[in-house]
Amino acid sequence: MKIAIIGSGIVGLSAAYNLANSAEVIVFERRYPLYGSSGRNSGGITPMLGSKELIELAKKSIRIYDSVQGEVNFNFLLRKDGYLKVAKNDADLDELEKEYHLQKSMGVKVREVDPYEIKNMVQGFNPKSVEGGFFGEGGVIFPWPVIWGYEKGCKERGVEIKPMTQVSEVVVEGGEVKGLKANGEFYKADFVVNAAGAWSNEISKLAGVELNNTIIKEEICVLESLKPFIDPYILNVSNGVYLSQSARGEVVGGILGKEVSNPETSSSLDFLIKYAKRAVEMIPSLKGLSVLRQWAGVYDSGKDGLPVIGETNVKGFIQANGLGKYGMTIGPAAGELVAEVILKGKTYDKFSPERF
Ligand SMILES: Cc1cc2nc3c(=O)[nH]c(=O)nc-3n(C[C@H](O)[C@H](O)[C@H](O)COP(=O)(O)OP(=O)(O)OC[C@H]3O[C@@H](n4cnc5c(N)ncnc54)[C@H](O)[C@@H]3O)c2cc1C
Repeated sequence: MKIAIIGSGIVGLSAAYNLANSAEVIVFERRYPLYGSSGRNSGGITPMLGSKELIELAKKSIRIYDSVQGEVNFNFLLRKDGYLKVAKNDADLDELEKEYHLQKSMGVKVREVDPYEIKNMVQGFNPKSVEGGFFGEGGVIFPWPVIWGYEKGCKERGVEIKPMTQVSEVVVEGGEVKGLKANGEFYKADFVVNAAGAWSNEISKLAGVELNNTIIKEEICVLESLKPFIDPYILNVSNGVYLSQSARGEVVGGILGKEVSNPETSSSLDFLIKYAKRAVEMIPSLKGLSVLRQWAGVYDSGKDGLPVIGETNVKGFIQANGLGKYGMTIGPAAGELVAEVILKGKTYDKFSPERF
């Protein structure tokens, strides 16, 4: 059996990793494996999410990260120092509380924290900047070694990864996938997997299948290194600002993204100004630090906030996209589901491409 996967982000590579022992797998990548948002994200990982499906995928993915690191002998620099969601107003805090009850009911370790407890957790935190929050399981993973590690694991298991190879056509005959064309060459395949992230709508069109995932652009930056003082990953759900500190002390943070009509990754001064104000309001000691670099990434989300995973009405054309803001958190489990769709013919109603 031949499987062609489009996209070498976390979804494409984890699908390839899980398929490698059962099929001949080729991964096509238009640029290079860190080009997509899997190489541009902030690495926040947590099961403190807002739906049963996402919580299950996140819990499973964290277990997978633990085991894949050993299997491929590559350190993903996964630091489980916790995840902190804070809110600036009662309405947002109420929303977090609803999520909290769902998370608790599913066995997630999470508890409510007041602003002064947060101040004790994060040195220099301004307790007046928030109304309260919830602290629980999770932490930060470094996305680059994750992708390098999966790449290594895939290659060791016989997967061919083709960088700088753009897919321009998905070949369909009689309602069935026959292969694809990339860099002008035809590749025969029994299955074509659309793991192209923010470009998945375009790829789907090539197969004649409608996909209307929301495309989101998100900006992020890195501040100069400081002696480590921020343990958890912090997300302020009221103004979208998030930050954490990397193992080498750099403060990495951004603002939750906004819907755009086309994937593009330009950076803006406007983002830096907003981020600086919001981050300094939360942790005043960040004032005056230099910005070392900034960038942007694009990702896609299923219209209802859940991933799109499953076979389409074109036989052999598989959607594996729409993972949204938590793609790094749920990517490894999503890759396993893609393998089960192909190898065992499984369907997942909540993620089905047919649900829209
Ligand atoms: C700034 C930012 C911060 C984020 N923070 C977090 C976070 O803290 N936690 C979290 O869990 N998630 C986070 N995310 C989201 C997460 O990064 C994404 O959901 C996830 O990386 C999506 O992975 P993917 O494999 O679907 O897509 P991608 O990683 O984007 O990979 C898709 C690949 O497809 C390739 N491609 C496209 N078209 C073609 C073609 N025609 N032919 C061949 N290849 C093609 C692209 O080049 C790309 O490499 C963040 C994202 C951004 C941008």
